[in-house]
Amino acid sequence: MTSKPVRIGIIGGMSWQSTQSYYQQINQQVSERLGGLHSADLLIHSVDFQQISQWQHDNRWDALAETLCDSASLLCQGGAQAIVIATNTMHKVAAEVARAIPVPLIHIADATAKRCHQVGSLKVGLLGTRFTMEQPFYRERLASHQLEVIVPDDIERDAVHNIIYDELCKGVINDASKKRYLEIIQRLQAQGAKAIVLGCTEIGLLVKQEHSSVPLIDTTAEHVAAIVDRICQK
Ligand code: GLU
Repeated sequence: MTSKPVRIGIIGGMSWQSTQSYYQQINQQVSERLGGLHSADLLIHSVDFQQISQWQHDNRWDALAETLCDSASLLCQGGAQAIVIATNTMHKVAAEVARAIPVPLIHIADATAKRCHQVGSLKVGLLGTRFTMEQPFYRERLASHQLEVIVPDDIERDAVHNIIYDELCKGVINDASKKRYLEIIQRLQAQGAKAIVLGCTEIGLLVKQEHSSVPLIDTTAEHVAAIVDRICQK
């Protein structure tokens, strides 16, 4: 690579458990692709997730959009040449963030959809927060890539959502929760899902491909791959 690697601005801390996965995976892949002692040129603005989570549950998406736009602007002032929102849920305000900045936003759902097509799965089960599973912003983005999206039933969605906020975002990895997720994954598979989108950046900490016979599309890993492509300007 002759040109300078692209500097990426990451809006993180949602939760910090997954932001550290981003940091590690991005650097690992840059090192593999560029060799030597190469590592990624990154700026990370890590927010306080208590306030973010409160506003999500209070339906204060206006305040959340403003907070993320401010964060993105801060990163751009620091020289970021592309911006990443390191969570699925907060892509609810991705359009506002993209409008507020002079550089591209690398969208997590686009990277995820690309992978679904690569594994040949056009009907997918979606796991994530209630916001991600129930509101149109994420499902419609996947649907715009010609994917059919199904979600668990109400009681299952509650379990998936609560495990994210009560355990995974606090770094708690629980065997009973893993079992519950795998049961829900199996039910989605029985309903025709050809792959399962782990549509929350912490789920990969709990459930891994070796636990399931259906392809698991880890949104953190797919987002990271798109980020590394941008860094290396592929
Ligand atoms: N990181 C999670 C996600 O990918 C959930 C936390 C959040 O609400 O941002 O959706």
